[in-house]
Amino acid sequence: MTGSLVIAGLGPGTEGLIAPDVMAALEAATDIVGYGPYVERIAAREGLRLHATDNRQEIERARHALELAAAGQKVVVVSSGDPGVFAMAAAVFEALEAAPAYLDLDIRVLPGITAMLAAAARIGAPLGHDFCAINLSDNLKPFELIEHRLRLAIRADFACAFYNPRSRARPHQFARLLDVMREEAGPERLIIFARAVFRPEEDIAVVPLAEAKPEMADMRTMVILANASTRRVGRFVYAPRKAEAP
Ligand code: SAH
Repeated sequence: MTGSLVIAGLGPGTEGLIAPDVMAALEAATDIVGYGPYVERIAAREGLRLHATDNRQEIERARHALELAAAGQKVVVVSSGDPGVFAMAAAVFEALEAAPAYLDLDIRVLPGITAMLAAAARIGAPLGHDFCAINLSDNLKPFELIEHRLRLAIRADFACAFYNPRSRARPHQFARLLDVMREEAGPERLIIFARAVFRPEEDIAVVPLAEAKPEMADMRTMVILANASTRRVGRFVYAPRKAEAP
């Protein structure tokens, strides 16, 4: 087997935020595999095949990538942000677990700048103290688990970074979670809606939970709920580095 498989992160949007090692892997690739909008970010060139697939076909996509690499191709599986954060890396390892013959392949994961870090950077340092990341999609887990983890995270006073906050298929769930946030954190707590960060359409809003509306989030928004001691300084928001005993 002379092929290779690189699972790479494209960062939040601009080319400057793609790691040089990822750029090198993209330049050396014969095949790019990924969700349509991410594959579209790769410039076409001769000798490069682009395989764009639908968002829900992650395991088939991972298997296809393994098959191409086993056939001798230099394959790069692309994700936005980081491939290990709610993205393709885990899907590739799941496919590998089901087909261990591919374990001899040259497989590498190359990190990218994940959306929560890109969003945090645009607003200051809201993740400057302890924090957690929660995927709000109930595609692969029950909604009760999302609500349960959200409550415990707020009680532990973690700042929370929410991926996949709201889709057309489940608009009511985010409204419900905003109620949970108000119940656990109170109406004054700051919440950040960072849409399409580092893209031309970027739009960022910071409001107290009392003013947060479900429509402020969509599937291109990173939502960050601040911890209890987070404050504003001018146009910035930051979580102080120190905390007291509970
Ligand atoms: N692997 C990706 C996350 C995939 S889940 C990463 O590490 O960033 C997709 C979710 O990421 C979106 O619903 C949104 O919440 C967030 N996201 C991705 N790119 C974003 C961007 N440029 N601006 C704001 N949020 C983004």
